[in-house]
Amino acid sequence: MPAIRTWLKNPLAVFTANDLDARGGLVVEGGVIVEMLLPGQLPAQPCEHVFDAREHVLLPGLINTHHHFYQTLTRAWGPVVNQPLFPWLKTLYPVWARLTPEKLALASKVALTELLLSGCTTAADHHYLFPQGLDDAIDVQVKSVRELGMRAMLTRGSMTLGEADGGLPPQQTVQQGQVILDDSVRLIETYHERGDGAQIQIALAPCSPFSVTTEIMAESAALAEKHDVRLHTHLAETLDEEDFCLQRFGLRTVDYLDSVGWLGPRTWLAHGIHFNSEEIARLGQAGTGVCHCPSSNMRLASGICPTLELLAAGAPIGLGVDGSASNDASNMMLEAKQALYLQRLRYGAEKITPELALGWAIKGSAQLLGRRDIGELAVGKQADLALFKLDELRFSGSHDPISALLLCGADRADRVMIGGTWRVIEGQVEGLDLKGLIADHRQAAAELIRG
Ligand SMILES: [Zn+2]
Repeated sequence: MPAIRTWLKNPLAVFTANDLDARGGLVVEGGVIVEMLLPGQLPAQPCEHVFDAREHVLLPGLINTHHHFYQTLTRAWGPVVNQPLFPWLKTLYPVWARLTPEKLALASKVALTELLLSGCTTAADHHYLFPQGLDDAIDVQVKSVRELGMRAMLTRGSMTLGEADGGLPPQQTVQQGQVILDDSVRLIETYHERGDGAQIQIALAPCSPFSVTTEIMAESAALAEKHDVRLHTHLAETLDEEDFCLQRFGLRTVDYLDSVGWLGPRTWLAHGIHFNSEEIARLGQAGTGVCHCPSSNMRLASGICPTLELLAAGAPIGLGVDGSASNDASNMMLEAKQALYLQRLRYGAEKITPELALGWAIKGSAQLLGRRDIGELAVGKQADLALFKLDELRFSGSHDPISALLLCGADRADRVMIGGTWRVIEGQVEGLDLKGLIADHRQAAAELIRG
């Protein structure tokens, strides 16, 4: 039976994330884009379905490259609202240590749903909490991703350096190195898909210099090389972290990264703020990517990522919403808006355009995850699409549709397609009881805080 062809016809505007023109829309067949049409051009073959996109701005699905889904349970929690990173973490760790599989499933589903409704089709999560009873955390997350029909890069995080050994996290939240490595291999062998159209991928992700040992960093790098998976960690987020590295290792953060075998194209870093020019050159030469997390960096007052210097040096830049205890929203469109504005403060209005910020949220993010099958509109790419309407009050009187998405604050997609299947229709996630999810999640969040 021939696959069904769908023509998304004549969008109001289109952002392809490359130089291609798709103002006549695009044709999707078998989950991939098979044709890009110029204005007035008709599909080469008849299409069984035609979707009239004249009211929609069409984008490739947005890609989130740093999150901690579980933190949706501790959003806007009073005791940490006004704290910077280290005290913020120390106050939250004992609460997070009470996480259970049921609560993680709800938290993951909430974060993913929020991302999906914002036009995000692929999400990375950095999960590094494995308290007793939560050994199967990543398996729990795989299930949540599959329920929503999204794509995900689930990173097997880890913490090995507890308070007793000079680290930041409490002892009950750290694991033994061999347990982490064995679980990493199991997860890669069980879930990691390779090639175009992959739905679930696994990466290895020791948490941060102040919560892991150098041994687990080096061993994770060796394991990632052996199994050809990616590496992810937090780096150069705050000056407290830089001081920690100097005191404990006698090294600045990038020297530390290099010393454990992580300075290469397999690695993408969350935050990447406090680099000097020599370090930026080294990151660029190595092709190490940086996920810019503007909302989190502003909330914790961590600093501003030097995106343009990193890009000029050769380091890919993507975007991430970061965990919900430091953002506290999982909205990729609003994150692109934050990136636009925060980076303008650093580089000026002329250099940071809406297209540049959107490109980071889409194509740049795909580069960080090592994916060539998503992140732009072109023949042969996955049909991962986000469609926004500009019919709300906030857009009334706007002129340039692509700029309007960020400047007027688009925060909810009208339609989202992943691999050729509609997952969001008229702003609603297909097959999801949203009210029920919110009720269960709120209860779980209250329980977690109560202890
Ligand atoms: Zn983070």
